[in-house]
Amino acid sequence: MMAPIKDDYGRTFRTLRVSLLQHCNLGCVYCVAGEDQLKQANASPAGGSLAVGELLAIIRRLHGQLELDHVRLTGGEPLLYPELPALIRGIRDAGIASVRMTTNGFLLERQAASLKEAGLEALNVSLDAVDEEVFFRISRRRSAVRIIRGVDAALQAGLAVKLNAVVMKGINDSEILPLLDLAISRGIPIRFLEVMAMGHLHADADRYLFPQEEILRVIGARYPCEPLPRAAGATARYWKTENGHVFGIIANESEPFCRDCDRLRLDSSGKIYGCLSSNHPIGLGVDEGDDEWRDKLQRALSQKQALRFVGSDLSMLRIGG
Ligand code: SAM
Repeated sequence: MMAPIKDDYGRTFRTLRVSLLQHCNLGCVYCVAGEDQLKQANASPAGGSLAVGELLAIIRRLHGQLELDHVRLTGGEPLLYPELPALIRGIRDAGIASVRMTTNGFLLERQAASLKEAGLEALNVSLDAVDEEVFFRISRRRSAVRIIRGVDAALQAGLAVKLNAVVMKGINDSEILPLLDLAISRGIPIRFLEVMAMGHLHADADRYLFPQEEILRVIGARYPCEPLPRAAGATARYWKTENGHVFGIIANESEPFCRDCDRLRLDSSGKIYGCLSSNHPIGLGVDEGDDEWRDKLQRALSQKQALRFVGSDLSMLRIGG
C-alpha cells in the first residue's frame, strides 16, 4: 500500500481549488495594477483554459489519490468559464459531493438557478463595498447593486451564500458596517479579509493593511460580539453579535492559519501549487503514472509554509484566490 501524502505537521490535501481561467470582468486594485495589467485581465477569456473534459480527467485522478472532501471553483472570474454546469455535474459524478465557488457575482443573477440545478452547493461572493463610488475605487466598475441582485438570485435559487470583503486602509474601510448590515439584512455570513501580500502588492501590502483588531473595533462599537471556536483547517475566525449574527475575519497577517491548511491549487493550465505563497507551479502529465503524480503532490505539499503566509509576486488572478 502507498504511504499517505502527509507532511511533518500532519497536513494533507483535502480541498482542491480550481482556477478556471486567468481573466476577470472587474479590475480590483489589489489584483491588477495599471492600465496594461487591466487590459490583459479584461481581455477575452477565449483560449488558454482547459476544456471541461481535460479538467475533469485531472480532478478525477486527484480525487482518486487524495479522497477530496470538496472542490472550490475560482479564477480569474469563474462565471466567465463556458460550460460551467457541465463541469459542476462532472465533479459531482466523480464522487465529490461538495462543489463550491468563489465569484465576483457580476454575472450571477442570470446563472444562479442553472448552477444550483447542476449541483453547486455554495458560493462565496466577493463584494468590497456597498457604495458604488467606493466600489468603483476598488474594482474599476460600478456594479455593487448588480452584484447584490446576484446574491439575492442565488439565495432564491437555494444556494448557501457568504460574502467576502477585502478591507483596504484608506480605500474601503468605511464600508465595514454597511457591508455587515447588508449581510445581516440577507441573513448570511460575511468575512472581512486582511489584504495579502500578493502580486504587485507583494512588497507593499502593509500600506493597505487594516488589521483584524481594527476591524473588530469598528464592528464592536456598533455590535458587541463574542468569538466562536475556530474550526480545523478554516481560514476564518468567527464572531457572534449580541443579536446572533455571525461574521468572520480572514486575518492572514494578524492570525496566520497555515498550520492546518489542507488546500491544493490547480491553475487554469493544469499545474498544481501547494500554497498561495509559491510561485513554483508543478505540471502534471496525463501520461505519467500514479507514482509520479504522488511524488508531485508530496512536492506540492512541501511548498506550504510552516506557520505564516509569506506572499508571492504571483497575482491571485493567476493562481486563483
Ligand atoms: N473573481 C472571483 C472573485 O472575485 O471572487 C474569484 C477570484 S478572486 C482572485 C478571489 C478572492 O481573492 C476575492 O475575494 C478577492 O477579493 C481576493 N483577493 C485577491 N487578491 C487579494 C489580496 N491581495 N489580498 C486579499 N484578498 C485578495
